[in-house]
Amino acid sequence: MKKMIYLDNAATTKTAPEVVEAMLPYFSEYYGNPSSIYELAGASKKAITEGREKIADVLGAKANEIYFTAGGSEADNWALKAAFEAYKDKGNHIITTKIEHHAILHTCEYLEKERGAKITYLDVDENGVVDLEQLQKEITPQTILISVMFANNEIGTIQPIKEIGQIAREHGILFHTDAVQAFGQVPINVDEYNIDMLSSSGHKINGPKGIGFLYIRKGVKIRSFVHGGAQERKRRAGTENVPGIVGYGVAAQRAARTMAERTAREVELRDYLINRITTEIPYTRLNGDPVKRLPNNVNISFQFIEGESLLIMLDMDGICASSGSACTSGSLDPSHVLLAIGLPHEIAHGSLRLTLSEETTKEEVDFVVERIKKIVEHLRNMSPLYEDFVKKQKNN
Ligand SMILES: *Cc1c(COP(=O)(O)O)cnc(C)c1O
Repeated sequence: MKKMIYLDNAATTKTAPEVVEAMLPYFSEYYGNPSSIYELAGASKKAITEGREKIADVLGAKANEIYFTAGGSEADNWALKAAFEAYKDKGNHIITTKIEHHAILHTCEYLEKERGAKITYLDVDENGVVDLEQLQKEITPQTILISVMFANNEIGTIQPIKEIGQIAREHGILFHTDAVQAFGQVPINVDEYNIDMLSSSGHKINGPKGIGFLYIRKGVKIRSFVHGGAQERKRRAGTENVPGIVGYGVAAQRAARTMAERTAREVELRDYLINRITTEIPYTRLNGDPVKRLPNNVNISFQFIEGESLLIMLDMDGICASSGSACTSGSLDPSHVLLAIGLPHEIAHGSLRLTLSEETTKEEVDFVVERIKKIVEHLRNMSPLYEDFVKKQKNN
């Protein structure tokens, strides 16, 4: 492969070497089914217990509150569908936001269309932050669940999770947060934030793909998601993904251990990148909150260009980036997140997301800025809209 600069760490991350190393013996040496009784199975069982403890430790949770899933999407589906089933006698109202990941939004649509749920989608301000007053106003005696993502995968905005948890607790409403982007990037303590359920995914934190978890606070009445064997305390049947769990545990501990230093460095590089692009390229804007923002997220709109064209040209230079969320690229609709923060369609279309990693260097950032400058200039020169705009500027 030619030299590549990977700036799409919100889509997925490279599995860390120490994670891969920890996983390997669980493929070919300790491959026993954890539910069996012989010694070989004991090693698998022990590995699951340790993985669970490692993750619980990072969240300030108890090990028996961590339920492994096949990823973030499954955890989100489980939280919403099973909480709705378990609490629908109390009420049918769920409050979420307009900027959630599709794993939440499409689950809400399903619950609304097929299961009789009533869903309120909260607005966000121009930086992507939910309005706490609106949240308070939307709560009714029928409200059983509030689900607000910890940090947004497209624009990086971090929500006032502590305040939302407080509001939910005061009203006796369950609080779920999709923390897939936040876990391992910002400190999270489920007790301090009054979180009742939390979703996370291994492959977003330098762990393996196909493993995630749902934290469920002890006492929360929630149904099984997969019926079958007695795994995951009878709530999620199926032979456990032992190597995945081992890798996830190591990745979670690693992320916690390196967090302070890693994120401080990323914030510096992030702000340097934002600053260079927005000052050196005209007609650009930063999307998302400038401060309450994931340490590695940059999301910029370039007027008069198509984000997809920019992406293709960056790819030719070996630069991996994204125009929004990976799940929506390929569709021509602009991102629901960018529309929710009030961007007009044509500006939302010209957006680029760059998400850094601990391995990103200043040299790479400088190279990327230079390429973006050239490409944006080139694309604008081909744009009739830009031509019109320049003519009008001259006439004024
Ligand atoms: C990636 C992502 C998911 C989905 O996680 P998978 O493990 O890929 O299923 C859900 N929510 C957010 C915010 C994400 O970034």
